[in-house]
Amino acid sequence: MHLLLVNDDGIMAKGILAIAQRVSQFATVTVVAPDRQQSATSHSITLHKPLHVDEVDLNLGAGHRAYAVNGTPADCVKLGIGALCPEHPPDLVVSGINAGPNLGLDIIYSGTASAAAEAVLLGIPAIAVSRTGTEPYDYEAAVMVSELLIRKAATHGLPELTYLNVNVPPRRYEDLSGIVITRTGIRKYHNNYDRRVDPLGRTYYWQAGKAIKLHNAPDTDVHAVEQGMVSVTPIHLDFTNGSLLATLHTWELSL
Ligand code: MN
Repeated sequence: MHLLLVNDDGIMAKGILAIAQRVSQFATVTVVAPDRQQSATSHSITLHKPLHVDEVDLNLGAGHRAYAVNGTPADCVKLGIGALCPEHPPDLVVSGINAGPNLGLDIIYSGTASAAAEAVLLGIPAIAVSRTGTEPYDYEAAVMVSELLIRKAATHGLPELTYLNVNVPPRRYEDLSGIVITRTGIRKYHNNYDRRVDPLGRTYYWQAGKAIKLHNAPDTDVHAVEQGMVSVTPIHLDFTNGSLLATLHTWELSL
């Protein structure tokens, strides 16, 4: 099995190293990750400047490779599949393990989720994995969950334009309450901006939003993680609101 690993926290992040060390025990690994923090860069790609690729030694052993790219998570997936291993395409792309949750509509902003989305746009199945909670992060449980899902996805496959968004609560593996299939819940943030003044006297703003605790239905990702359960959500990249198609016909639009 050939796995392409990507993240949005940068190639020096502990989460991607933790999963790379594990999966390199049973798969051929190519790591292609941003050279710096790229969280919340969503699905952006780089068009107006060159992309530079530096091979990095992550100590994964013979046969595995790691590259740092001065681009976004989606750039890393496109470049990885299109340029860095075109003769040996990955069987699966794993994005993460992200430091922090990607629950509900976090996936709109998330570079972690968008890297998985880019993979499935390119026809490669993908899993995005996030470790919820706050620092200090321990990735052991999320690594074990990732291995489980990699093996299951390899066995069962995934449908077109679909990736799995996985969130793992901040517990030891033995203390997780289980694993459930969910849909995306609702997560909103206080839109707080810290207003500050820089040494040159200019005002600047630093976004400091905190998630608002909202009631979420029991079948949602947000609820599952609150209960200490691993959440697995199938995300489909068909944005059409199918139920509204018929309603819109009643508008009798014409030109
Ligand atoms: Mn991140």
